[in-house]
Amino acid sequence: LAKGNGGGVAVYDPTKDENTTERLLLLTQLHDALARDQLTVYYQPKCDVRSGRVVGAEALVRWRHPSRGLLGADQFIPLAESTELITQLTLVVLEQAVAQARVWLDQGRRLGVAVNLSVRHLADVRLPEQVDALLRRHRVPPALLTLEVTENTVMTDPHRAVAVLAMLRAAGVRIAIDDYGTGYSSLAYLKRLSVDELKIDRSFIIGMTSDDNDQIIVRSTIDLGHNLGLQVVAEGVEDAASWRHLQVLGCDVIQGFTVQAPLAADEFDTWITAWEANGRL
Ligand code: C2E
Ligand code: CA
Ligand code: CA
Ligand code: CA
Repeated sequence: LAKGNGGGVAVYDPTKDENTTERLLLLTQLHDALARDQLTVYYQPKCDVRSGRVVGAEALVRWRHPSRGLLGADQFIPLAESTELITQLTLVVLEQAVAQARVWLDQGRRLGVAVNLSVRHLADVRLPEQVDALLRRHRVPPALLTLEVTENTVMTDPHRAVAVLAMLRAAGVRIAIDDYGTGYSSLAYLKRLSVDELKIDRSFIIGMTSDDNDQIIVRSTIDLGHNLGLQVVAEGVEDAASWRHLQVLGCDVIQGFTVQAPLAADEFDTWITAWEANGRL
């Protein structure tokens, strides 16, 4: 029998109980996964809108689950975020991503790499030093690392987040606001945060070619970003028509299935070689 938070006693709900068992099982397995190296990072290219040249990649975590196969981030990140495990997980992703940036440099490719941060990390004042040490260890210039944070993540503890992000930025790391337009940040914060990049959420990009309002939102977000001196990225671009449209609107960088879905590191290397040889669109 579960106790409710309000002091009363909740009615026993077998479906909820089952979910809790499932949750606990997955958490235990995720804990093991970290120790057993089952987490792997996929890379999705970010391209210059005009030339199609690859400027970097976003690191997206995957879990090679022993019985369930390859799990996407949505299948375990929310769970990890409800516990301290997310901190450890993010450090694993950061480590792999920065090491990958080094591999690319050694191949003669100066590609940026972007890593998603969660709310716990934005409240962790040790993060900037850890990131700095990591970059030094792999001899990767800080400007090649972008940390993506959502508006809501920042707004959870804005005071602390502003401080942590300022330290990271002082170390030369780039900061991106992810899923822009879906959260509840204000323009005032955007200005105070002094970020480098604005990623327009894919929900606006999807509707852009059919919905006038979405098109207006995308257009004004690009202008807003540029007026604030930011690089503007469109994410979730699924077709060539949207790509062309974003080109007309002056967007800087695109990411999405129309270029390429996320790939394992070795697949990414094969892909980029072909992409560079064939051009695009
Ligand atoms: P996100 O940061 O917004 O990442 C973009 C998501 O959109 C990715 O899903 C990507 O595979 C997917 N995507 C890319 N292009 C397209 C497209 O053209 N159309 C559509 N429909 N989707 C596209 P993924 O990899 O499943 O990640 C989901 C979310 O999980 C991410 O959203 C991010 O918030 C979180 N996440 C992923 N990796 C990490 C990580 O290492 N750490 C943390 N804290 N969160 C992560
Ligand atoms: Ca992201
Ligand atoms: Ca996003
Ligand atoms: Ca998202």
